[in-house]
Amino acid sequence: MSLFVPMNLTCPECTEVFTSEAVGSVNADRRADLRDEILAGRFQIMRCSACAHEFRLEPDFNYLDVGRSQWIAALPARALRDHLEIAAEKQAVFDLSYGSQAPAAAQSVGQGLQQRLVFGWPALREKLVLAENGLDDVIWEVAKLDLLRSLPEAPLGEGVELRLMGVSGDLLDLAWIRAESEEHLNDFQVERGLYDGILAAPAPWAAVQALLGASMFVDIQKLFMGTGEDAA
Ligand SMILES: [Zn+2]
Repeated sequence: MSLFVPMNLTCPECTEVFTSEAVGSVNADRRADLRDEILAGRFQIMRCSACAHEFRLEPDFNYLDVGRSQWIAALPARALRDHLEIAAEKQAVFDLSYGSQAPAAAQSVGQGLQQRLVFGWPALREKLVLAENGLDDVIWEVAKLDLLRSLPEAPLGEGVELRLMGVSGDLLDLAWIRAESEEHLNDFQVERGLYDGILAAPAPWAAVQALLGASMFVDIQKLFMGTGEDAA
């Protein structure tokens, strides 16, 4: 089931404190509308009861879509630095819910689920776009690395991410986005062949592919974070 909990929020514009419903979990099989809202970039946008200012809560919930084989732990963008620790925590959550420590019926559901961990709305949305278009996320992250080699001016840095926004025929719609504010720094397209080429001949990428797929946090961001323990 999808779960919402009342939460006291403070308006960043006028500091009014009001109560609204923050999401605790999303079941996209039963609530397709919530998945639609995530794709539309509208999910968890709150409106201040005093001044009508709109602001978005950071994601902090589990997302389940059995139909598309997705289980995703979504966390705030700023939590990225703690990805190693959080991946271990979320793996334990999954194991209890659908994995080795879950009841048999839940385990049978869990066997078909791809487990993922994301930080920030753009990263979550990208996982939904990939599934929607039948694209493998590990191969896609490898394709990003390949693309970065030919983009010397890439603004990649902490909090700035390259995300797939959609697929338009033979073109992939990409954007450089600030993860926390969701501000787009640059939107552009590349040919889908970037992805298809790696899918067809992944051998040269085997090592980095294994690294990216080694945990539920499948994202090139982790390659630029060091171990996650010594970052200042
Ligand atoms: Zn307000």
